Amino acid sequence: MGSGIFFPVSALPIIIIISINFFFKEHIKSNETKLYGWLIATNFVGLLIEILCSYACKIHIQHTIVSEFILKTYLTYLMVWTSLFLLYVYNISSNKLKFNLSFKKFYLAFILVVTAIIYLLPIDVYISIDQQTFYSMGSSVNFAYCVSAVYVIMILAILIKNYKNLKNKKYLPVFLFLAIGTISILIQLINPQYLLLTYVESIICLIMYFTIENPDVKMIEALNIAKDQAEKANNAKSDFLSSMSHEIRTPLNAIVGFSSELIDSDEVRDKAKEDVKNIIMASGSLLELVNGILDISKIEAGKLEIIESNYKFPKMFDELILLTKARIGDKSLEFNYSYDKNIPEYLYGDSTRVKQVILNILTNSAKYTQEGFIDFKITSVIKEDIIRLNISVEDSGIGIKKEYIDKLFSKFERLGVEKDTSVEGTGLGLAITKRLVEMMGGKIEVQSVYGKGSIFTIVLDQKIVKGEELEELKKSEITVKNDDEKIDASDKSILVVDDNGLNLKVAQRLLEPYKCKVDCVSSGYECIEKIANGEKYDLILLDDMMPVISGSETLVKLKEMPTFEIPVVALTANAITGMKEEYLKKGFNDYLSKPIDRSELNRVINKYLAK
Ligand code: ADP
Repeated sequence: MGSGIFFPVSALPIIIIISINFFFKEHIKSNETKLYGWLIATNFVGLLIEILCSYACKIHIQHTIVSEFILKTYLTYLMVWTSLFLLYVYNISSNKLKFNLSFKKFYLAFILVVTAIIYLLPIDVYISIDQQTFYSMGSSVNFAYCVSAVYVIMILAILIKNYKNLKNKKYLPVFLFLAIGTISILIQLINPQYLLLTYVESIICLIMYFTIENPDVKMIEALNIAKDQAEKANNAKSDFLSSMSHEIRTPLNAIVGFSSELIDSDEVRDKAKEDVKNIIMASGSLLELVNGILDISKIEAGKLEIIESNYKFPKMFDELILLTKARIGDKSLEFNYSYDKNIPEYLYGDSTRVKQVILNILTNSAKYTQEGFIDFKITSVIKEDIIRLNISVEDSGIGIKKEYIDKLFSKFERLGVEKDTSVEGTGLGLAITKRLVEMMGGKIEVQSVYGKGSIFTIVLDQKIVKGEELEELKKSEITVKNDDEKIDASDKSILVVDDNGLNLKVAQRLLEPYKCKVDCVSSGYECIEKIANGEKYDLILLDDMMPVISGSETLVKLKEMPTFEIPVVALTANAITGMKEEYLKKGFNDYLSKPIDRSELNRVINKYLAK
């Protein structure tokens, strides 16, 4: 033990400032932070004891017991601080340590036993002749140093075990402790008058404060962790919603499919047809809702893509009119519609999404207008090869209160319609619409007077198809057959592969008008077996999402067969991600999304089964 008290005295203000900052500032109550608090507190006490030690040596001859007590207390401090540091290192390396009551009791008992041994063992004090240098020796000192050395070895063992994580800046103080600690012990061994150890510990506390234990940094870290967890939970929710919607879609598709068949059937009485119509309407609304949930969960998880391709604008407009008329039903509403004749026939964009957003504001107008009119207008401005579409839907409906306008595009917000349960809806439509419009680089706005009506406007840029590409599109259009014309394919055979029995039945029904032979199997392996056995088909409709072996994996195996040449069309309920290009890349010849759209099926049948 040296006599120079310069180091502990100079460390004292540092540790006081850190303590004030740390203990009086709000901080996270984690194990690490608690241990850090203990490290500073014990270090403060250690500095005081170390300062006392130099006096202890001076009074040693007259007051041996008091002097030895102070010196042994310092040894106890050294051992306690190192043990706390060991716990700190263990804690940053593994979160398994539980600071419960039984652990605290065990730790305290251990410290008490070691302390008792330190106090029981003898200690000697060396005093130089000029009385300038003092230090302690003896078995008490040796024992305390041995215990501390064991802690240091344990710290080293933890570092070796976690060597992969050592780049983490959390370990910086540990390396400093080992490096500066070793240097200071060496210096102290050569020049015992330098009281360096506690000073080094103060410096480590200081560096920890400015690096990893700063309450502000810790708060930010905790906030980031909370944010990550919230994001993970949100993603889990989105995944759950999307898989649930997926599952619900399958039986729902069967309901829609079978009911549509019943409506066309001559065997069904008119009275029953009325009921079937209602079933179709109800399941249609349910499907809309499920698709909405699927859309919003995909948008939130960042999985929804805008898939652009060439489309025919007038065709989309006509479909919108038909669907809106169906929605207006027998309400006595004046429905006016027009579009700028300058709009080119072919545009390039995500027609499905464009149609979806326009249909949503049209449907809302039909829903929330009981009498009067709905005006649907599309005007345009052309700049080079971009056309700006100004889509407006004006109605004389219930209108929206001023205070609700801001909430209009938030999900699940239904404005002031709580009491009016006659209007069905979920408050999802406009939230999806706004996000889709923004994803397509457009804007949606609303003006409304409560009780009088509303105007929704969407501004959207689309590319114009020009030149050679346009010529080709026009040429191919001539060759496409009439949408509704069903060919006679009685000499052809189709294999449908789907793990869901209901889906197979729906597909069979939809294929009936073509009079072709339809075989159904419920797994990829059965499909492979049939082809391997030499059965001949003209087309395979292959579901992708099947257990054991997916459609895509089945296709790979089919293509491995040298003579395999049958066109394979992917069937998938995964319509939202717009997987068409993906499937074509995988080697499928075409793609049909579920619920199978009759005209899409007709297109596929025409393409692959027409003579
Ligand atoms: P919902 O499924 O409830 O129709 P939306 O997100 O499409 O969900 O619409 C949110 C709310 O905005 C509706 O519940 C309705 O209160 C209001 N709203 C939307 N369009 C109109 C409109 N044209 N006229 C009056 N209110 C409307």
